[in-house]
Amino acid sequence: MKTIGLIGGMSWESTAEYYRLLNEFTRDRLGGLHSSQCVLYSVDFAEIERLQVEGRWAEAGQILAGAARSLESAGADMLLICTNTMHKVAADVSAAVSIPLLHLADATASAVRAAGLGRVGLLGTAFTMEQDFYRGRLEARGLDVRVPDTDGRALVHRVIYEELCLGEVREDSRRSYQRVIGDLVADGAEGVILGCTEIELLVRPEDSPVPLFPTARLHAEAAVEAALSV
Ligand code: GLU
Repeated sequence: MKTIGLIGGMSWESTAEYYRLLNEFTRDRLGGLHSSQCVLYSVDFAEIERLQVEGRWAEAGQILAGAARSLESAGADMLLICTNTMHKVAADVSAAVSIPLLHLADATASAVRAAGLGRVGLLGTAFTMEQDFYRGRLEARGLDVRVPDTDGRALVHRVIYEELCLGEVREDSRRSYQRVIGDLVADGAEGVILGCTEIELLVRPEDSPVPLFPTARLHAEAAVEAALSV
């Protein structure tokens, strides 16, 4: 089994989920007491979030690149950045190490294509919904990506940072997300990417009339697949 290196803590609420999922997928594949061989480098999210807000992405990239080097030294055979948003600095992370980075947008695009869908809604932080680093990568894989309107994007972003990253799961926010998903479906979305690793802590399959693509789950599944492939 190969060793999976996790750059996590963004937030730790979703990184804890990654850890559980990696172990569950490994147990499901191998049975018995098998569990995931992995190493976690968990950062202080307050520092990263401040750099995001101030647009200091290069500095954030250096912090994650340092984490990547530590994971490589600790024996990781591959890397995951356990957040969609911080894939904005994926190139800095990749350049710092000689082990492969399993890009979250690639795992997600593969799952959408495997489901036979082409037009998808994307929920995530404002960075993920509005900038090109993530959307562009999905579009390069042939997907037609729709995002919520201005109010919808503000709501989705606010709930991520003010609630979900703090471990708060609220029924009224779930209802708000259901409305945003309904609008995306009315706009033609055949599926919706939960493009922030905390959203799947709030939104369940039954909250949507179309298939959902939970990115932490898809990323963890792809990592276990890679770790167990010869
Ligand atoms: N975990 C989130 C994501 O997947 C948001 C937190 C962050 O800004 O990294 O984008």
